[in-house]
Amino acid sequence: MNEISPLHPRAESLRTREKLVKGFRAGLVVPEGLAAHGRGEAFDYILGERTNEQAKKAIKAAAAALISAKNPVISVNGNVAALVPKEVVEISKITGAKIEVNLFHGSRKRERAIARWLHEHGAKEVLGVDPKFFTKIKEIQSNRRKVDIRGIASADVVLVPLEDGDRTEALRRSGKTVIAIDLNPMSRTAQAANITIVDNVVRAMPLLIEHAKRLSKRSQNNFKGIRIFNNESNIRATLKLMFKRLKALSSK
Ligand code: ATP
Ligand code: MG
Repeated sequence: MNEISPLHPRAESLRTREKLVKGFRAGLVVPEGLAAHGRGEAFDYILGERTNEQAKKAIKAAAAALISAKNPVISVNGNVAALVPKEVVEISKITGAKIEVNLFHGSRKRERAIARWLHEHGAKEVLGVDPKFFTKIKEIQSNRRKVDIRGIASADVVLVPLEDGDRTEALRRSGKTVIAIDLNPMSRTAQAANITIVDNVVRAMPLLIEHAKRLSKRSQNNFKGIRIFNNESNIRATLKLMFKRLKALSSK
């Protein structure tokens, strides 16, 4: 594989792709995951490949929701494992969230490979791999209805970096607070989540860690204000930002 020059204007984006390709070769990522990433990249291009103010607000709200949750869980799929394994482990340590492997295109082999990969990155416990603890979320048709009774099934807050719309809607219906990271503000995932971070997972996760660390040092009463967050209006503001960028580019 060619070295990516740091001077390349898309260096960061190319490095991210390389991580996914490596993850694909290691059996963590499926071909569909590569396509899903491409769809995300298109939205990132419109957003200017940087974390915007709306995403920062959502990240703060997400950090507060995770820190104050009783049983928070981070749902990990192949792309998340390939792109941000260390960050998943770190956010789990700071917030006490459990880590659960949950795949749309599932196979026992891939589940185990992802769990192994997360263990290599410091995870103590990874749920979603032991059939003894499997149960099903009603109303979901895909393989992702399978969840761990110790994890997503009993969670109050679920962080789903990169999720499918069907499942986000079902998680909401089952009364959970859902935090999604999704570059497409129009997706069903983005629309259905309680807190939607419209940003690239590779930029959002380190910021989420930073905020969670900060909040974990404060007393609960001190961050009530951060929980006042309106997802709908935040998404609307993100769409306006995209529109503004496209308008500026088209009227040059
Ligand atoms: P939905 O199921 O929510 O209606 P969809 O079917 O269009 O949406 P999926 O195929 O389920 O989308 O998931 C792909 C989506 O994941 C992309 O459109 C993108 O928004 C998001 N995505 C992919 N890679 C990233 C990434 N690195 N960071 C953030 N979001 C990403
Ligand atoms: Mg989908």
